Amino acid sequence: MNECSVICRSCFDDLIEVINRLNIKVGINRRPRTIREKEKTKYNCLLCNLKLKAYVEYYSEEYFEEKIIPIFVLIGGELSKKIYGCFKCVGAQLDYDVYRWNKDEEDPSNFIENNAGQTVESFLWEKGIDDKFHKLILKHLRCQTCHYGEDPIDYSHNPDGGTFESYDQVYDEHETNSVFGLDDFDFIEFSQFAQKYNIDLSWQELHEFKQHLLKYPLLAYKHETGKKVYDLLQKHYEKRDYIELRSGTQLFRGRARKKDRKHVFGEDEIWNPPEGLPQHGRYNAVGISVLYLSNRMKAIPYEIHPLNDENIDIALFKTRKKLKLFNIGLFDHSFQGFFNEINEESKPLKKAYLLTNYIGNCCAEIGFHGVAYQGVSDRKYTNYALFNFEKNNEIRIVEVVSFEVEIIYNLKTEAKSTKDIGNEDSFLF
Ligand SMILES: [Zn+2]
Ligand SMILES: [Zn+2]
Repeated sequence: MNECSVICRSCFDDLIEVINRLNIKVGINRRPRTIREKEKTKYNCLLCNLKLKAYVEYYSEEYFEEKIIPIFVLIGGELSKKIYGCFKCVGAQLDYDVYRWNKDEEDPSNFIENNAGQTVESFLWEKGIDDKFHKLILKHLRCQTCHYGEDPIDYSHNPDGGTFESYDQVYDEHETNSVFGLDDFDFIEFSQFAQKYNIDLSWQELHEFKQHLLKYPLLAYKHETGKKVYDLLQKHYEKRDYIELRSGTQLFRGRARKKDRKHVFGEDEIWNPPEGLPQHGRYNAVGISVLYLSNRMKAIPYEIHPLNDENIDIALFKTRKKLKLFNIGLFDHSFQGFFNEINEESKPLKKAYLLTNYIGNCCAEIGFHGVAYQGVSDRKYTNYALFNFEKNNEIRIVEVVSFEVEIIYNLKTEAKSTKDIGNEDSFLF
C-alpha cells in the first residue's frame, strides 16, 4: 500500500492561528484536498503524525515544502526577537559569575545557583506554540546577543555553528541586560571586526574588559584586552580602512538660544568648549574636548532638542583637510557622544560609555581625527565627533545663521479612558 506524507487540515488551521497571533502577514489561498472513502493510499500528517481517515482534508507535501516551510522561517524570525540571550552568551557568563562567587565563599549556605532563564521548550509553550510545531521552529531561532542558531553545525567547516535544541536555555531582556549592561555596544560585531585583522578578540574578553574599565578606568591599557583593542585600531588605521571626509565637506553644528537673548552666538561660542573644562575629566581621557557635528542641517533640531522659547543658531563648517574617521556607530548602535560631565552623574550611563570612551582615546592617540556614527532620529544622517584637530586648520566656520524652530505636537490615540468607551459624551477621535 502507498504511503503519503501530507499536512492535515487541523494542523494547517492551527498554524494559521499562530501566524495571525504573531501578526505575520502571508497570503494563503489554497483549497485543501479531501481523502476519498476507498482510497488505497495511506496518509500521514507530517506535523501531528496522525494517520488520516477518509473525508479528512489535507494539503500535499509539495505545498508543505513550498509554502509552509517558509512560514516556519517567518515564525522563527518573529520569536527570535524575544530571545535576548542564550546558553552560549548570557548563560555562559552567568555560570562563570556563579562559579566565581561560590569559589570565594566559604560558607556553603551562601552559595548561589544559576536559576535564570528557561528552556526553549518552555519559551515556545509560553508563546502558545503547540508541541507539534517545535521541531520545525527550532531550526529558525536565533539569539539576539550572540547570533547563535539557524546555522547548522559542521565540525570541520563551521564548528561554532548550531541550531537550538528544546532543552537549551534562553534569557529574556531583563536577564540579558543584567549580565551585559545597559549599553548597545555590539561585542560580537567588534570581535568579528578584529578577526579581519587577525586579532583574536572574543566578545567574552571584551565584555570582561568592560568590567575591568569600571573598576580601573585609568588602567585600561594595562589590560591585555586593552592592548589588543589598541593594536586593532592601529592596524585599521595603517591599512587605511577608515572613513575619509574629503577637504571642503560641509558640516553643521547648532546651539539653542533663548529667544529673548537677542545676540546670535558668535563663532567662538559655537566651537566646542575649550580644553580644561570639566569635560577634561577623570574618565574622558580623550583629554581634549570634542567637537560634535552633523552632515545634515535639518538634523540639528533632533540632536539638540530646542525648547519652545528657544531658537537655534547653526554654524556651517567646512573641512580644510582630509579627515580620517573611525566608524564607531558600527559597534555602538546608540552612540550619542563620549562620556563627559553632563552624564557623569548617572551611573548606568557611565558604565555604558566606558568602552567607547576607551576606543575614542585609542583613536585620538593613533591619529584619527574623530569618529563617525549614525544620527538618532532616523538613520539618514551621519554625525561626527572630532577630537584631533586645530581650529581653522583642519576645519573652519563659514558662517552662523539663526533659525526659528516650529515644534509640532502629534497626539496618538492610546484609547485609554476613565469611562467606558462608547459613552455618548466621549471624545470623538
Ligand atoms: Zn496534523
Ligand atoms: Zn546567545
